[in-house]
Amino acid sequence: MSVEKADFMEKLQSYVDHGEEGVSVSWDEVNIPMIRHWTQALKDNNPIYTDAEFSASTRHESLVAPPTMLQAWTMKGLGGAAPGAVNVDSAAAVTEALTGAGYVSVVATNCEQTYLRYVKPGEKLHHKYRLESISGEKKTGLGVGHFLTQLMEYFTEDGEKVAEMRFRILRYKAAKREPQRPLRARPGMTRDTEFFWQGLHEEKKLFIQRCISCQDLRHPPSPMCPKCRSLEHDTVQASGKGEVYSHVTMHHPPVPAFEYPNTIVLVELEEGTRLIAGVIDIKPEEIEIGMPVQLEVVRCDDELSVPMFRKA
Ligand code: ZN
Repeated sequence: MSVEKADFMEKLQSYVDHGEEGVSVSWDEVNIPMIRHWTQALKDNNPIYTDAEFSASTRHESLVAPPTMLQAWTMKGLGGAAPGAVNVDSAAAVTEALTGAGYVSVVATNCEQTYLRYVKPGEKLHHKYRLESISGEKKTGLGVGHFLTQLMEYFTEDGEKVAEMRFRILRYKAAKREPQRPLRARPGMTRDTEFFWQGLHEEKKLFIQRCISCQDLRHPPSPMCPKCRSLEHDTVQASGKGEVYSHVTMHHPPVPAFEYPNTIVLVELEEGTRLIAGVIDIKPEEIEIGMPVQLEVVRCDDELSVPMFRKA
């Protein structure tokens, strides 16, 4: 670590656990209307939250709030913090130190809540918060940054702690990303067509299926010979020579993996079978039926190669 970096880390650590705590006070007591909205929104029909008669018969002896509502009780409103809140400057200072050093992006990464007991309607909560830790600089998929963990401890008015929450964020320098070209759609690969795609990708060869019984070639691959109904087949390698049997040029709708205008040809191979493929260095206006073409196997990405044709 450079001296500069070490100094910066030291500065960051000075904000951690220095005894100063913020306090966030709830606007309202734990209350039934908020509980009802919550349970209806989440479709949580547990009667201990909303059925007073039922909950009286349980070990709780009265209604309780869903533990996961914890954050809702002491959240600031749109109008700001409730009276009695104590702001700590260190939270703002650490943010300023990090943004000043270029860690301008922020993302919440995880949140852990621990419930010590259920809270009940009528109880008024507040939470104390402090910065519990700042990590060293970490490399993440988003970029390099520091994880900040804030500890929030929840208390009742008479000071009983009922829950705590650790809320972690990452302040980071966003990594520069090359715009990634979308991948071509994967071909539907079956046991019948596997040899075709594997041949292209692993051997850069174009294979044609052949009936072992009558020697007829066929494409696209299929389990049974349409001529003699034999299920026995093997393959032969195509020479790659052929001619344009038909063609079409696609303009709309543009699919991101392709370049436009996108000319697609139906090539009749010299072996006699036909296949659909893209073209290389042939302009749409140049293409003609009967034009001699030559195969080129093009690697699209780590998993896929496709047959394409250029002028012979
Ligand atoms: Zn056959």
